[in-house]
Amino acid sequence: MGIALRHWLQGVAVLIAIATGVPAQAHQQDGLRATPSAASSEAISFRLSRLDDDPVPARVLEGEFDDRFRPAVPATVLREQAPEPRWWRLTVDNAVAAAGDPHLVLSSPYLTVVETWRPGEPLPVRRALMGRGMDDLHAPRALVVPLPAGIAPGQSLYLRVDGRGASVPMRIAIEPLRAVHRADLLHVAWRAGVLVSLLVLAVLALGFWIGVREPTYAYLMAMLLAQAGYLVSMGGELRAWPAVAEVLGTDPRTVRLFALLAVIAANFFVGSYLELRSRQPRMQRVLDICSIAAAVLLTFTFATGARWIAVAGNALVLAVAGTVILATVNAIRQGFATARLLLLSWLPLVVLVALRVGELLGGWVNPPWMVHALPAAMAFSGLVVTIGLAGQLQQLRRDRDRASRMASYDALTGASSRPAIEEQLRNAVRDAHRLDRPLSVVFFDIDRFKHINDEHGHRAGDQCLRIIAARTRNRLRTYDQMGRYGGDELVVVLPDTELHEAFGVAENLRSAVNCRPLSMDGVMLQASLSIGVAQLQPGETAEQLLERADAALYASKAGGRDRVMGSTRVTDRHHALAPTEFPR
Ligand code: GH3
Ligand code: MG
Repeated sequence: MGIALRHWLQGVAVLIAIATGVPAQAHQQDGLRATPSAASSEAISFRLSRLDDDPVPARVLEGEFDDRFRPAVPATVLREQAPEPRWWRLTVDNAVAAAGDPHLVLSSPYLTVVETWRPGEPLPVRRALMGRGMDDLHAPRALVVPLPAGIAPGQSLYLRVDGRGASVPMRIAIEPLRAVHRADLLHVAWRAGVLVSLLVLAVLALGFWIGVREPTYAYLMAMLLAQAGYLVSMGGELRAWPAVAEVLGTDPRTVRLFALLAVIAANFFVGSYLELRSRQPRMQRVLDICSIAAAVLLTFTFATGARWIAVAGNALVLAVAGTVILATVNAIRQGFATARLLLLSWLPLVVLVALRVGELLGGWVNPPWMVHALPAAMAFSGLVVTIGLAGQLQQLRRDRDRASRMASYDALTGASSRPAIEEQLRNAVRDAHRLDRPLSVVFFDIDRFKHINDEHGHRAGDQCLRIIAARTRNRLRTYDQMGRYGGDELVVVLPDTELHEAFGVAENLRSAVNCRPLSMDGVMLQASLSIGVAQLQPGETAEQLLERADAALYASKAGGRDRVMGSTRVTDRHHALAPTEFPR
């Protein structure tokens, strides 16, 4: 095997180890007896048993109850479901040598408090993620108890386990300190990645919410923050703030609070993202009911730490998960553009949440990689959903741009629409006054257009308009603006143009049309324009300027058509105009 390939394979092995949280070198598996894996000479074989009682420690340690301990299945998992403390015994089969610096490791303890009596020691070592017994020499992935003297074959560790009724399964292993540190580092790296992702996505959602004022982003942010809160209170990172951890970290209500808030936020998010209220009102009603139930549980959570809240909350999570998947599948069927992305983001999360809930409700024990898979699924779903929302935003912008383009341009002639050209004229007038620059407008109308329509049909009329618009536009400068004012009337705004120049432009437009016949589907049509021209006068408004150009245009019509007339002076809007014919 080439060196490059070997390095590559080692790299993959490290990545898998990071992804699964399973240190590459230390693990053993189920069965009544834990056995060393082929890869590890340090893994220890032990038996685990449980006493369903809580007698005083001295009597247990003297062995008075030894024959009442019952073997645990599987032997590598300690799951204490009783709300009061219970005794567990871990008996090793082969010697645990002190040289290896062995440590007892109980993973994912959540609220569990464990007191461990090592062989021959009268006092226990107390360990908990937070509160009394907190051990911040290790990552919060596990409770770690040093076994400096090692353990002789057949000797036992006695554990008094207070599971606080949380019923979380803890995997048990005896590992050298080296392996513990390694797993700790991987755990911290992985969790930091996930938590930072959640927080960054939440900040992004906040930014979008502020920027776009779209509540979906606020719901997304709330969901991501609640998920992060759930993870740090369940996984123990909360102990980075000892004062907070002391109060909140040892209370089962903290995790429940975050979980229920996450459920409510997720409901709002999904409802808003998939527009359920208008598209799937029945699904929205189901989610509303779930949100109300979550809110009621939330209220109870403040009042009591009873376990039934956890059970009801977990059942609710499953109900919401099912509803969300159903609503998403419906949305895909209805052709909702980004619902596929939502399904992609939810499926892994929902599957893993269901596996976790099943575990917490006492159904089974999940594989060790679940510890990292669920948080990673949260970050992944947050990421995918953010991408989906960004896509939605992009689509909205495209739709808006298209709508505004359609509103700004006349579809037939390609010239500006009437509102657009009026706006352009107003801006041009404002600039001309401000910069004291000349500005002229040309107003033209096709002669006897009705006749063309009547003679050759409306389609030919349209074609005629299109050709005339194209021919005239070709005679303009790039900064001149042309708009269809209505029917067969078009306006041209000529910035920086004096009246005599505008006359030149107008004459140019006129000749562009009457110089040669328009050819349409083999029919040749002679067309001409009547044109009015006016230059902006000091203090004049856009409307007044346009009115004078219009009046000049009608003077052209009155004068016999196919000609250019100009309006030379400012006139009162209500008085006679003084058009001047362009000298031909
Ligand atoms: P004049 O020389 O006095 O301008 O005579 P005219 O026949 O052109 O009369 P006028 O400008 O008042 O009539 C414009 C006609 O243009 C009326 C309408 O039938 C036609 N028209 C307006 N918009 C369209 C259009 O989009 N397509 C077609 N084919 N005809 C249109
Ligand atoms: Mg006309």
